[in-house]
Amino acid sequence: MEVQKVMVRECWKKKILRIDLSEKSTKVDKIPTDILDKFIGGKGIGTYFIYKELKEGINPLGPDNILYLLSGPLQGLPAPNVGRWSIVTKSPKTGLYLDSHIGGAVGREVKRSGYDVVAIKGRADKPVALVIEDDLIRFESAQHLWGLGVYEATPKLHEMSGSGSSVYAIGPAGERLLTNAVGCCEIAHQSGRGGIGAVLGSKNLKGVVANGTQKISAHDVDTIREINARLAKGWKERDVPFKRYGTTFLPEISNELGQYPTRNFRSGYFEEVDALNAEKIKEKYGLGNHHSCPHCVMRCTHAFETENPLNPAEKVESMVEYETLGLMGSNLGISDPRFVFKLNYICDDYGMDTISTGGIIGFAMELYEQGILTEDDIGFKLPFGNGDNALKLAKMIAEVEGIGEILSKGVETAAEEIGNGSENYAVHVKGLEVPAWDPRGRRGMGLSYATADIGASHLRGWPATTEAPNESAVDLVESMVDARNEKILTDSLEVCHFTYHLPMPLDDKIDALNAATGLKYDRASIMEFGRRIETLTRLFNVREGINRENDILPKRFWEPEISGPREGMASFVSREDFEKSLDRYYEIQGWNDNGVPTDESLRELGIAGLV
Ligand code: SF4
Repeated sequence: MEVQKVMVRECWKKKILRIDLSEKSTKVDKIPTDILDKFIGGKGIGTYFIYKELKEGINPLGPDNILYLLSGPLQGLPAPNVGRWSIVTKSPKTGLYLDSHIGGAVGREVKRSGYDVVAIKGRADKPVALVIEDDLIRFESAQHLWGLGVYEATPKLHEMSGSGSSVYAIGPAGERLLTNAVGCCEIAHQSGRGGIGAVLGSKNLKGVVANGTQKISAHDVDTIREINARLAKGWKERDVPFKRYGTTFLPEISNELGQYPTRNFRSGYFEEVDALNAEKIKEKYGLGNHHSCPHCVMRCTHAFETENPLNPAEKVESMVEYETLGLMGSNLGISDPRFVFKLNYICDDYGMDTISTGGIIGFAMELYEQGILTEDDIGFKLPFGNGDNALKLAKMIAEVEGIGEILSKGVETAAEEIGNGSENYAVHVKGLEVPAWDPRGRRGMGLSYATADIGASHLRGWPATTEAPNESAVDLVESMVDARNEKILTDSLEVCHFTYHLPMPLDDKIDALNAATGLKYDRASIMEFGRRIETLTRLFNVREGINRENDILPKRFWEPEISGPREGMASFVSREDFEKSLDRYYEIQGWNDNGVPTDESLRELGIAGLV
């Protein structure tokens, strides 16, 4: 086969498009090649820019905050599952570093327009949509779209550009600056966690429409094509549950491990899990439609039929996955999947994160059961398991109505305002509500939550075990760091995390990166890259006041599990073992005892000059 080779670094456009919404101005800057080599793309490049350009202490909902939309070096190439893209900004929920990785083609279209990064700052005086079509950048009025849900706004945003456009939009939750607000790409894909939707809302930015025409090339496209074909062939021959159900088969697996969040994480074991069985819900409610990311052979997104809870006469699709089945099912004590579909639909249309919103409703249900919130406070009874009233509360949160006003601020702030011991039931890390994996079910996993750069995230690498947390976790810390480093690469290449089901091992990712860039990364340099990015996100957070005191787990995860396979166990065998695991983590990262990166490690990682 003839191998086509072009110059090194052809996969990068080497440009950042800068948008100032206050001035309605645009500017293009070059990105130096040494920065691309060191920071690669997606999360890596976004971390470089946010650390360098955001001043300490700025208001995440003020005009000085910057939204970085990011593509990666494999994007637009025939590589496996690269229909993802990234956003990096400062989180209005935590006040810290935030990155989110999202499906849909905006990243590819940004790159086809000629940019690796789009940086958006300022605040438009009236609602706008940003349209990027190669070097033609338009600010279109979005006054008529303000107040519309994501389902209605998305096709109208598409009308602002020709065919081939990709749309990222916020709903009313983002416009109202809720810290659980997301943006949605082509409706089905959310930039979840941390309140990115509110950052768009604060800028009066209803959405971004991208539609590029430029060719995307790479150093050695044939090698990328070969890796893609080999992995796709392997996938075709595999028979795994993920293929039939996406992530909806996971409730039973996590329940068996004592990790399935139940009734505001009181337990990791849900006795009614069978009602949420993947085959049953697929058979009964599945529509057979996929709204998958582009370039994906795995197609994990599954649509289920439900009634539109905002207009019950209308039948609609709801794209539910594992996290939502956890946070809006078992975590609310709900076993009827129809309520989960409806709750998910409300969240998608208003533009709210189902993980954080499920965490908030579960928190309110527990406060109701503890007598801290009463029927008078809420307006109705709110026991666990009441799906109708969970729907009412979700709508009140989105509309910032009644008790929804306090709850819309997230569990940490709501607990501060409600008082009366409610902080004991606020399950979060650094202000971010916890995803659908109870760390009391898996040895050492709590360390990943406690040290994740955005607060409680399930996407920051887990220790290599499914064992119970009934002995020391110190020996597992190294494996967690390795997994974290690989995830940082994955989020910088804009490859989907679920490619571990293909499987797409680390060496294939590195080979694809080398083929795209023409450079020679290896395992050692990629592990160093992971440490470089993790250290830079840490420096951003340290600048915002974070230290060891903040690397903690909520009270709930120190309470012994009340039922199921991990009954009697907490997240670690002892507080001492957690502290020792944290020491080991800092040691591997090259941070001091207080969790601050040392000068020596900054020099080693080549970022001393940045600081
Ligand atoms: S597996 Fe799912 S999340 Fe991953 S790229 Fe495919 S559709 Fe998107």
